[in-house]
Amino acid sequence: MPELPEVELLKRGLTKYVCGQTISSLVVKTPRLVVGEFRQAIGGTIVQVRRFGKMLSVDLSNGWSIAIHVKMTGRLIYRGEKQPTRLSVNPDLEDLPNAHTHVIFSFRSGDRLFYNDVRKFGWLKFLPTSAIASLPFVAKLGPEPFRNLSFEQFVRLFGKISRPTKTLLMDQERVAGVGNIYANEALFCARISPLRKANTLRDKEINTLYECILKVLQDGMNYGGSSTDSFRDVLGQKGNYQNHYKVYDREGKRCKRKGCGGTVKKMKLSGRGTYWCPVCQR
Ligand SMILES: [Zn+2]
Repeated sequence: MPELPEVELLKRGLTKYVCGQTISSLVVKTPRLVVGEFRQAIGGTIVQVRRFGKMLSVDLSNGWSIAIHVKMTGRLIYRGEKQPTRLSVNPDLEDLPNAHTHVIFSFRSGDRLFYNDVRKFGWLKFLPTSAIASLPFVAKLGPEPFRNLSFEQFVRLFGKISRPTKTLLMDQERVAGVGNIYANEALFCARISPLRKANTLRDKEINTLYECILKVLQDGMNYGGSSTDSFRDVLGQKGNYQNHYKVYDREGKRCKRKGCGGTVKKMKLSGRGTYWCPVCQR
């Protein structure tokens, strides 16, 4: 599932390619993914794109917004004038629209934006911009790394919680934007076992973990996001972070930490595939 880095990349891509564009028509092919008065978006100009954890808000000049959560397999793909010409020879790109296209935005310029989703868990909500902050998803969201999650706040999360540290990191109401892949990578970076009960971490470990969360999220963005699952950027291109995992998806392989010699193990924790090296992560 796309996490903070991937959704941030979508936000930047939308800002670059569709901000300032006026929606001239909208085709909804799968109504159950769409909530609200979608026709209100027609005639609106996109003035900004905001991100709330893993959700996007596309704000229009007419006081309406489109809240979008891509969930597992949603994609937002731009096609139009501003598309770099090198993409015309990229064999990875899908033809659009196709069987997985559920919503098509057409702009006055002739450009288009497609919402594709193979598993159809994502959603688009059309609502007044003033109502975005009170969407249950947004209202419950915890503080975010790089934004309002201070180190002091982060330390306080650990005090009384006896759940495994990994489960805590993935709780969107406590830390927004960190999902399974980045939680695995951050714990490896910090040499902390995913099973360690949060309230047993020492200050120094919490400090390292905080730095490691910022590091792996930044790495994810620098590599264009992770495309282990289905992530594509706004131009439809794969990210590259999956080629730089230190622990995720490496079951049975040698630990990448110099001098460790351990073997990466896999288990299910809170229902999610969890990878760790039992030798260097304690
Ligand atoms: Zn190791």
